[in-house]
Amino acid sequence: MCNNYDESLLERFKEVAAKEHLLPTKVTDFYKKKVDKEVAAIGIGGPLYKCVYPTEEKLSLFGPGEVDDFVQEYNHYPVEGNTDIVRQYPNRLLFMTTETCVCNCSYCFRTIKLAESGDILDRIKNSLDLLIEYLKGQPEIEEVIVSGGDPALVPVSLLREIFTRVRELGIPHLRLHTRSIVYNPEVLSDELIDLLAEFDVRLVFHIMHPYEICDVVRAKIEQIRKANIRMYNQHPLLAGINDDPEVLKLLYTELDNMRVRQMSAFTPDIIAYSASFRVPYKRICEIFDYLNYNSSGWVNAIRLVGAIPPGKARRYNITNWDQEEGIITFEINGVPFEYVDFPEELYKKSDKKTLLWKKYK
Ligand code: SF4
Repeated sequence: MCNNYDESLLERFKEVAAKEHLLPTKVTDFYKKKVDKEVAAIGIGGPLYKCVYPTEEKLSLFGPGEVDDFVQEYNHYPVEGNTDIVRQYPNRLLFMTTETCVCNCSYCFRTIKLAESGDILDRIKNSLDLLIEYLKGQPEIEEVIVSGGDPALVPVSLLREIFTRVRELGIPHLRLHTRSIVYNPEVLSDELIDLLAEFDVRLVFHIMHPYEICDVVRAKIEQIRKANIRMYNQHPLLAGINDDPEVLKLLYTELDNMRVRQMSAFTPDIIAYSASFRVPYKRICEIFDYLNYNSSGWVNAIRLVGAIPPGKARRYNITNWDQEEGIITFEINGVPFEYVDFPEELYKKSDKKTLLWKKYK
C-alpha cells in the first residue's frame, strides 16, 4: 500500500462497515495503482480515492432523509418471493444476476443489500426459470437489463443461457451494466465480448471520472468497438468525484472520442452514509446549466435524472421547490414525491485543482 494512506481511518471504517452492514473496502490492483498515484500527488481524499476508499466525511457527515433503500426496490418485485427480478417500468425490467462486484464503490446505492447477501449464483438458475415464466405473460416488455452487482462477473455460459432464453421469447433488447471496465478491464474477456456481440447486447459502463480512463481501458473499449457492440455510459454526480462541469466535459469528450455515448448523469440516492457524496440540487442545476451553455450538442444532450421511487425525475418534473424547508416535489405520471434536498451549508464545493490535479499541478 502507498504509505500515505490513513490506516486508522481504514480500520475505523472496517468496524463501521461490519456494524452497519455496509460494503467493505475492496479494491482491485489495477484501480489501486491509479489511486496510489493520486494519493502520492495530492494525498488522500481525491476523486479516485473517494470512489473506493472511505473519507473522514463519509464517517462523520450525515444529511437529512437518509434511508437504506431510497428507490424502494422492494415495491417493484413482480414475482412473489423473488428479489432478483425488478420491474419499475412498463417496457423493461432488471434481472439481478449477481450481488458481487470486482471492486466495491464507496458510494454504492445498493451497499446494504450487497453487503448482506452472499454470492447468489446458486439461486440464479431458479430465478431465471421464474423470469422466463413471468415474461411469457408480459408482451409489453421489450428489454431485459442484466444487472447486479456486476454481471460481467457471471460465467459466460450462464449469461449465454439468459440471453438465449430471453431472445427465444422474442424480446428484442438486451442490456448489461458493468463498472469492471475501469476496475479490471480483463473481466471483459474475449469470450464475453464475443457473446455480447453475438446477442447484440447494449453495454453500459459506469465510468465516473476522466482519470479512470487510461491506455489499457482505451484499448479494451477499442476492442469492444471493433466487435460492433453499442456502448453507453452513465454515472451518479458525486461531491468530491465529479461535481464540476470541467470534469464532466472532459469525461464526456473522452467517452465520445471512444464512441461511447453518455446517456445520463444521476443525482445521488439518499441512502445511509451518502451525505459526503451528495450535492445540493441548486448546484447540480448550476453544473448542467454551465455544461449546456458551454459545450457542443453531443455533450449537452446528456440527460440529468434522479432515480426516485415513482421513476426517473427530470427538472421539468418539479412542481414545487420549498427552498426554506429543502423539499423539492417532483411529479411523475401524476405521482408526487417529496425529495429531501441536501442542505447547502453541509456541502463543500469541490476544488477543481483536486478533481483535475493532473491538469493543474
Ligand atoms: S459497481 Fe455498482 S453495484 Fe457494484 S459496488 Fe459499484 S455501485 Fe455498487
